[in-house]
Amino acid sequence: MPKDLTEKEIRRQLRRINERLEAIEGGGHGDGHDGDYEGDPPNDAPKQCCALPMVPTRELESGIDPGRESLIRSIEKKWVNGTTLRYYFYGGGAWGGSADQQQVVQDAFEEWAALGIGITFQKTESKDESDIRIGFKRGDGAWSYVGRDVWGISKSKRTMNFGWHLAGQDGRDTALHEIGHTLGFHHEQQNPFAGIVWDEDAVYAAFGGPPNNWPRNQIFNNVLRKLDPNSVEGSEWDPHSVMQYQIGPGLIIEPARFRNGLFPNGGLSEIDKERIRVFYPEIQDDLEDLRPFDAKRLVLEPAQQANFEINPTQTRRYRIQTFGFSDTVMVLFEDNDGNLEHFAADDDSGWSRNASLNVRLVRNRRYVLRVRLYFSADSGESAVMMW
Ligand SMILES: [Zn+2]
Repeated sequence: MPKDLTEKEIRRQLRRINERLEAIEGGGHGDGHDGDYEGDPPNDAPKQCCALPMVPTRELESGIDPGRESLIRSIEKKWVNGTTLRYYFYGGGAWGGSADQQQVVQDAFEEWAALGIGITFQKTESKDESDIRIGFKRGDGAWSYVGRDVWGISKSKRTMNFGWHLAGQDGRDTALHEIGHTLGFHHEQQNPFAGIVWDEDAVYAAFGGPPNNWPRNQIFNNVLRKLDPNSVEGSEWDPHSVMQYQIGPGLIIEPARFRNGLFPNGGLSEIDKERIRVFYPEIQDDLEDLRPFDAKRLVLEPAQQANFEINPTQTRRYRIQTFGFSDTVMVLFEDNDGNLEHFAADDDSGWSRNASLNVRLVRNRRYVLRVRLYFSADSGESAVMMW
């Protein structure tokens, strides 16, 4: 990607993705009932909360346009659509969980999948074949890596943990929340558009005490730190998101209606359901054939992707590469008895180079290539080719 991109084009693409997200938020779901809890009063005893592992921010070339960075940050943790994520449960040993606890998590995967999204989940008994590895180590908190960070974790390590017994709606929400992180979503209370003014001393005291007993840096990283506005979805805060912590009384100063606490409704909010569909719409795989030396133009809007099928007629090494001034993530899957398994990937976003794979493909096997666009200097002026 060159640095001399037209400012106008960047703004246009940024506007397009924000329009799609804002259409959801303006969709009349509103949060008109915040603060007035009819029916059963919420239980405001402090709850155990999810604490994310720290991952450094991915480096981008210095001096890149802030609009382009914004597009990159909003998509960089997300999977390419059409990805099958295989999850593995530790059943024994220090990280093992009982069948009923595994079932709570499996039900939560099914609840996300039932929204009709382009991501599918598949349970596997093989740690080596898994993308998501789920432990149940007591006392180790609830956490997950965010989105594609999961692929950076060694197969001998967990990517998610449930540190307490999952029961009832709370247990289900904890499972939905951790899977939300794995899908690439962040904590809603850190959404910079929330405009939350915290009573910081009260927050440190509350989360520093039981049942969380977190050190100050963990409290800062999961509660007080505002996220980069570019990394969150859209420009509105959804206090009923499953990604929002329950916050006890006396911790929020502003908005004033949450001074007595913030208690999300529980379950996936309407905005959660719509946001996930923006990034992972249901996918109709009309795959176009990609053949050697046959360049395919990419005519895409940000966050959209093109999908190709590759049926090699020779077993040899191939190069698959994008051309032109675009930021893309390119993922190659191998068809293994109808299951598309992650084979190779490259992400060139934020750097002056093109996404490129150098892979050995086998004759008579089938592969699927998915190319998701972050940003393109001129719509339709990039292409993908293999040779
Ligand atoms: Zn969390």
